[in-house]
Amino acid sequence: MAKALREQFGNPSSVHHFGQSAKAALDDARSAAAALVGADPSEIVFTSSGTESDNVAIRGVAEALEVTGRRHLITSSIEHEAVLNTFKALARRGWKTTLLPVDQSGIVAPEALEGALTDDTALVSVMHANNEIGTIQPVAQLARIAKARGALFHTDAVQTAGKISVDVKVLGVDLLSLSAHKFYGPKGAGALWIRRGVRLQPPMTGGKQERGRRAGTENVTGIVGLGVAAQLARGKMAAEGDRLAVLRDRLEEGVLASVHGTAINGVRSPRVPNTTNISFERVEAESLLIALDLAGIAVSTGSACSSGTLEPSHVLKAMGFPVHRTQNSIRFSLGAANTGADVDRVLEVLPGIVEKLRSLTRAVARA
Ligand code: PLP
Repeated sequence: MAKALREQFGNPSSVHHFGQSAKAALDDARSAAAALVGADPSEIVFTSSGTESDNVAIRGVAEALEVTGRRHLITSSIEHEAVLNTFKALARRGWKTTLLPVDQSGIVAPEALEGALTDDTALVSVMHANNEIGTIQPVAQLARIAKARGALFHTDAVQTAGKISVDVKVLGVDLLSLSAHKFYGPKGAGALWIRRGVRLQPPMTGGKQERGRRAGTENVTGIVGLGVAAQLARGKMAAEGDRLAVLRDRLEEGVLASVHGTAINGVRSPRVPNTTNISFERVEAESLLIALDLAGIAVSTGSACSSGTLEPSHVLKAMGFPVHRTQNSIRFSLGAANTGADVDRVLEVLPGIVEKLRSLTRAVARA
């Protein structure tokens, strides 16, 4: 990326040699992004993020197919906000939308999709893996069902690209989103794979960059970073996935054994190797997050704390868990920098922190 900033500062749309050098850098990144998902480089469109890729896919297909009278869109109830809020926006503009349910497995049932599809369905969008609980959706099966009814299929593969094998042909999808920062590329760079022949009306108007599918001068530096990260991730993926799964399993077994009143969410389903979502009875997730952070351990909650109100995780809610469980769960994400020593450290401090929080809650309840 530093080299691109120093030496490839031309505008990739310029015909002169500075521009062509920047264009060559984009082409290298395009090939690397395509190789990561088994695609042809000419079908990769660079965007600013996974969020933008999801927007271009969903809004672009919806608008292109509007004239055909297909005004129905289907997604799942456990999608990232990038998809859910795009569906909400289209619903406000008159699109009929259906959110497929999940049960406590955190998996979208193919029968649910079969029941929801109509002759008016333009697009089905179901994520490859969920960002809060890591469950991998049966995308190939879902895509087959959607396409049998003439609908296009988009998958948000932001949580899988670079982590597990993703192949657009094996998945049989029409559009696929990915984001560089999920596989150690820079923030603010994403890509959308669009199968050749898919009709899409780009939501952003402007120049003819990215074959007319995403207007605006490309973020060459960020995209170069995306390309290098894609190449590195592809080389390491299998071994790194196995390593992280061993660490993740050790963490889960250790937590279940050393802290009573705990449960893993989505545990019996196929999952990406790096994520685990754990419920702690009688503990408020935000308090646990802060206490762990003070101990140098960074975790996340699926929920957002906005203006003092604790938003329950929409994913755990959709899975049918009671309200308290949607507010007492935290997500541990393991990555390249983590070792067994990190797992040991969590297991060393976590039981004491949970016990302290529970005794505080008991004291408040008595007062
Ligand atoms: N989709 C999923 C499943 C995600 O996990 C994320 C980010 O967390 C996004 C989309 C958004 O990607 P970005 O942060 O690149 O906008």
